[in-house]
Amino acid sequence: MNQNADTIAAIASAPGAAGVGVLRVSGPAAAAIAQALLGRAPQPRHAHFAAFRDGAGELIDRGLLLYFPAPASYTGERVLELQGHGSAVLLDALLRRVCELGARLARPGEFTERAFLNGKLDLAQAEAVADLIAARSQAGARAALRSMEGVFSRKVEALLQALIALRVHIEAAIDFPEEEIDFLADPAIAAQLESLRAELAALLREAQRGVRLNDGLKVVIMGRPNAGKSSLLNALAGSERAIVTPIPGTTRDVLREALSLDGIALELADTAGLRETEDEVEREGVRRAHGELQHADVALLVTDAEHADADRAFFAALPPGIERLVLVNKIDRDGLVARAEPRDGLVWLWVSAKTGEGLDTLREHLKRVAGAGSGEGAFSARRRHVLALESARTHLDHTATVLATSRAGELAAEDLRQAQHALGEITGTYTSDDLLGAIFSSFCIGK
Ligand code: GDP
Repeated sequence: MNQNADTIAAIASAPGAAGVGVLRVSGPAAAAIAQALLGRAPQPRHAHFAAFRDGAGELIDRGLLLYFPAPASYTGERVLELQGHGSAVLLDALLRRVCELGARLARPGEFTERAFLNGKLDLAQAEAVADLIAARSQAGARAALRSMEGVFSRKVEALLQALIALRVHIEAAIDFPEEEIDFLADPAIAAQLESLRAELAALLREAQRGVRLNDGLKVVIMGRPNAGKSSLLNALAGSERAIVTPIPGTTRDVLREALSLDGIALELADTAGLRETEDEVEREGVRRAHGELQHADVALLVTDAEHADADRAFFAALPPGIERLVLVNKIDRDGLVARAEPRDGLVWLWVSAKTGEGLDTLREHLKRVAGAGSGEGAFSARRRHVLALESARTHLDHTATVLATSRAGELAAEDLRQAQHALGEITGTYTSDDLLGAIFSSFCIGK
């Protein structure tokens, strides 16, 4: 346990929300504060009905007092929870009283930060606490809960163990230089490295899906002016947010729409026509649209039967790894029927933003890409985790090249060390104060 910690306190519920207000206290003084409020030593993990009084003996509120001795508590420290009436005035008075008795106000995320520092949670689990609270969809909440329970962390840990085993092997070879070359040529080492790379690739895919479950699927809509982008956005969002007009170039900025498709969060961005333009305002829109593409999961190209082939040039602006869909719009005007077809490695859908034909197929497709129905084990993840996994992958790729070409044990060992470091950053084995500060300051107070 963190021996030097002081005692912190915060209101841990939204006052008035459910009629119950919760105050949480953590740290060495929690026992004395509990005793002062109760008038006697509290029984661990027992719900005492107590009269909470101020310093002058005046009644503030009556409610429940629960005391958790260290280390069996959320933070690993002594924890006190006071439940009173859900009134901001009463909770403030109670918080003041608790601070008079030796606590100070907690910073955002400080309870969870202490839980991390005391080894109750690793960093990925701590982040999942915040993601759970912020979840915008059922699927996102379920995934965050799994990460909070350690599903993701255990997979990272398993990978770390395999990586350490390989490192031990290779470093042992370096220690016996006369045998090094033969040793590094051992097919068992190559096999070990290959299986490690395959496991890492699988975990990376799962983590990418975890980010989508967490953040929602980022969908950009692109296409020439008047193709029907705004109409499509409106049809999917079921509102009239984007301005639909028949004048080319009306969609001048990036319009966003957040919606939920059967529990999956979608963030749709309608981009300006992505065409070269003289108009200053529109040029800014085009610039932002390009920025938008860098973070997208799915690109929807809105076109029609006449322009479909030429408009595929829009995809040229996309970074790799983005799911591409061609939407042949305005089938009502052109007398075509709604259908779906794979063509040239892309999915083509014939739709009408006006009549809604074909849009159900589009919704189903987006849900599949978002990871809906992706199985029971889906966990949430953050971009930070994906970047760490990608960094580990780069180092393992390099290890493989080194072993296959030069058999330089030192180089291979150094790459493995760096891969290990990258993986350790996910769970917080290796952290910097800056990283911890950035993570925990984004929490709400009382968590
Ligand atoms: P944007 O410039 O790509 O955002 O295109 P808009 O959504 O503003 O649509 C341009 C014009 O095409 C408007 O007059 C729309 O009513 C019309 N439009 C859009 N989708 C369809 C469709 O599926 N069928 C028909 N007939 N017209 C459409």
